[in-house]
Amino acid sequence: MPYFRTAPYEADMKEIILCKYGELVLKGANKPHFEAMLLRRIRARAERYGDFAVRSMQSTVYIEPQSEDCDFQGMLDSMTKMFGFAGVTAAAVCGKTMEELRACVHEYLPRRMTGVRTFKVEAKRADKSFPLGSPEICAAAGGYVLECMPNLRVDVKNPDRTVRVEIREAGAYLHFDQLRGAGGMPPGSSGRGLLLLSGGIDSPVAGYRMARRGMEIDALHFESFPYTSERARDKVFSLAQLLTAYTDRMYVHVLSLTRIQEEIKKNCAEEYFTLLLRRFMMVLAARMAKAHVCGALVTGESLGQVASQTLEAIRVTDAMADLPVFRPCIGMDKEEIVQTARKIGTYDTSVLPYEDCCTVFTPRHPKTRPEAEKVAAEAAKLDFDALCDEAFATAYTVRIDPNTIEKLEKQ
Ligand code: ATP
Ligand code: MG
Repeated sequence: MPYFRTAPYEADMKEIILCKYGELVLKGANKPHFEAMLLRRIRARAERYGDFAVRSMQSTVYIEPQSEDCDFQGMLDSMTKMFGFAGVTAAAVCGKTMEELRACVHEYLPRRMTGVRTFKVEAKRADKSFPLGSPEICAAAGGYVLECMPNLRVDVKNPDRTVRVEIREAGAYLHFDQLRGAGGMPPGSSGRGLLLLSGGIDSPVAGYRMARRGMEIDALHFESFPYTSERARDKVFSLAQLLTAYTDRMYVHVLSLTRIQEEIKKNCAEEYFTLLLRRFMMVLAARMAKAHVCGALVTGESLGQVASQTLEAIRVTDAMADLPVFRPCIGMDKEEIVQTARKIGTYDTSVLPYEDCCTVFTPRHPKTRPEAEKVAAEAAKLDFDALCDEAFATAYTVRIDPNTIEKLEKQ
């Protein structure tokens, strides 16, 4: 969609995207470092939507289309999924005189206010050298709105639409209420973590939550072919791809647990099956994390949700990982997790009914309060290291971005 709109009086109307920092404003001396990181990410993401100039000033990022064929709306939507911003808005750029503001109101607003009956204007004057104060700007701009849309009424308490005028150093901007930003910290500002990604509801939410804190996310999926199907694995790739709307790309490593599961089933007491399997998962995940320079593991566990997520069970499995394990869903109710999954768009895919490796061979009466010595005794019935090596040798990696899913050649 072209962004230069032809005005009745043939002025060029320019629309840009303003993104306002969230938590980043609290950063002190490190702020430029985080800003540089964020700008790099925005520029890289912008390539998908056309030629945009990106710069930051006064805790705001200005994104300006440089050609008529930019996908302005696509870029705007994608900035609501960029971690680091509290708010995002499309704004018309106008000169810093009241005459230019008037022209801008006449040109920009009418087609964007169809169906609106009441409005108010709010003004913010960051440039204190501007001759009028905020109340005068509001009054004048309100008058301009009524000139071109005489049927509207001012309602300062409960308007259908709020028109905002911002007078900044760089220029004056006209826009409506901003869209809510994704919050959090810029991607890549908090190291790299390895997400244990199942096909369920919780683990994509866990990945999203850590990515929101600035963590780059790689994923590890355990499959159990032929007990689990290709469709189950493809569903996991789809979930990872949905997350790339926020993370831009993701490497998903896939490991087979088939042999390990068969060996546990054959040699160990049934009620310890899941716990033993999860210990293998932790060891393999830690090993994979180190191979890919990830400093932490991330899981979708939630305290007390299932037998393997009681405090005692988590202690037994956690002990196997020699790097931090982040569990951002640990204190969330299922309902809250579901709400987040819906918000980030993973829910509908998560609930597709394909089997997970954890659900094959599930014991009828799993241990909910395991004792560490008993678990260790059951584990001792297996050649733990050899099974880990064997499983690790099955690994392959898929690179995923919003448009492609590509299996990488083994190095
Ligand atoms: P989810 O909705 O994430 O599947 P869940 O409630 O089904 O969670 P579990 O199956 O016990 O819980 O798994 C707990 C966590 O272990 C998951 O959130 C995920 O991080 C990890 N996990 C489980 N299965 C797998 C798998 N097949 N591959 C990778 N990680 C897994
Ligand atoms: Mg699961």
